[in-house]
Amino acid sequence: MIPFLDLERVNAPYMQRIEEAAIRVLRSGRYILGNEVDEFEKSFAAYCEAGYCIGTANGLDALTLILKAFAFPEKSEVIVPANTYIATVLPLSFLGLTPVFVEPEEVTMLLNPELIEDKITPSTKAIITADLYGRSCEMARILELANDYNLKVITDAAQAHGAAYFGKKTGSMAHATAFSFYPTKNLGALGDAGAVVTSDKELAQKIRYLRNYGSALRYQNEYKGMNSRLDEIQAAFLHVKLPYLDKENKRRRQMASRYLTEIQVKNLVLPPTDRIQEDAWHLFVVRHPDRTALIAFLEANGIQTDVHYPLPVHKQEAYKEYKSLKLPVTEKMHQEVLSLPLNPVLTEEELTYIIQTVNRFDAQT
Ligand SMILES: *Cc1c(COP(=O)(O)O)cnc(C)c1O
Repeated sequence: MIPFLDLERVNAPYMQRIEEAAIRVLRSGRYILGNEVDEFEKSFAAYCEAGYCIGTANGLDALTLILKAFAFPEKSEVIVPANTYIATVLPLSFLGLTPVFVEPEEVTMLLNPELIEDKITPSTKAIITADLYGRSCEMARILELANDYNLKVITDAAQAHGAAYFGKKTGSMAHATAFSFYPTKNLGALGDAGAVVTSDKELAQKIRYLRNYGSALRYQNEYKGMNSRLDEIQAAFLHVKLPYLDKENKRRRQMASRYLTEIQVKNLVLPPTDRIQEDAWHLFVVRHPDRTALIAFLEANGIQTDVHYPLPVHKQEAYKEYKSLKLPVTEKMHQEVLSLPLNPVLTEEELTYIIQTVNRFDAQT
C-alpha cells in the first residue's frame, strides 16, 4: 500500500539532528520562549522575506491572534473563501466577527477575486485569503481591492510554506500571514506549532504580547491576551528542517509536473499548470464526477488517497446558521475533489505506479 503520507518516512532524513535538538532542549532547562524560539523566528521571517515572525502554539491561534490584534468592532464583516478548512473561519466566530463566504474560481479552487467587490459593505474590515493546496491566491487583485476599500488582508498560509506569487514570497504580501507547522504540512513540527509573519512592526509587537497573556513585562498586562506560545522543543525541530524546505518543495514541483503531464483520464480535472514553479504543492487535488469509484479503484490497487475537504464550512453542523446558504461552486467541488499522494519522500517508482494506475481507471469504467 502506498500511504497518502507517512510521517515517519518524512522525518527520517532529519531524525538524528531532531534527536540531538531534543536532547539539547531537554537539558537546557529552558522550555518556553528562549533562544530556540528567537532563532527560529528570525530565520523564518527571513525565509518569508518579511520583517517579523511570532511563533504560536498552532495555526488556528496564529489566525486568531492576527484578528485579535486588529481589534475590529464586533459584527464586523470579513470576506472568507467558501472553499477552505474550517480553521480559516473559526477565529472569526471566536471574536464575534461575521464571515462573508465568497465562492472560488473553478480552475484554481481558490477565492475568486472577481466576486469580492460585490460582498463589500461599510462593515467589511478584512479579506482572508487561504492559499489552499500550496498555491497563492490572486494577490495583485486582492491587494488592490483592499487598498481601494481600506481593508486588511490576512493570509491563511497553513498549506503554503515557500510558495510565491510572481516572485513575492508567501508571508511578504498580506498585512499578516498565519502559518501552521502541524506535522503534515510542508514545514511540519513533531507536534503542534504555528507562526504569524508580518512586516508591520507595531502589529508584530502587539501579537508578541497577545500570545503571552498580553504582557511585555512579567505581571504587567497591556492587552487581554491568550497563551499561545511556540514551544522551545518544536522551534528547535523546525530549525533543523527549515533549511531543507526549498529542496523538498522543489521535489514536490517535480512530482506535480509528472502528474500534470502524464495523467490522462477522461473527465478527470487536473490542477492548473500556469504557476507550477511558485506553487508549494502541499496537496495534489484532482476532480472527478465519480470520486467514490476512483477512490475505491485506487484503494483496491494499493494507493491511499484523501479528500480535502468532503463538507464545506457552511454545511457543517458547527455553522448550521448558514445551512440555507447556497454556494453551488463550492458544494460541487466538495463532491468531486480527491487528493493523490504527493510528498517529498515518494519514490519515482511509486509515482510511476500511481500515474499508471490512475490512467487505468478509464478502461475500468
Ligand atoms: C492545517 C490548517 C490550519 C490549522 O492549523 P493548526 O496548526 O492545525 O491549527 C488552518 N488552515 C488551513 C488551510 C490548514 O490546512
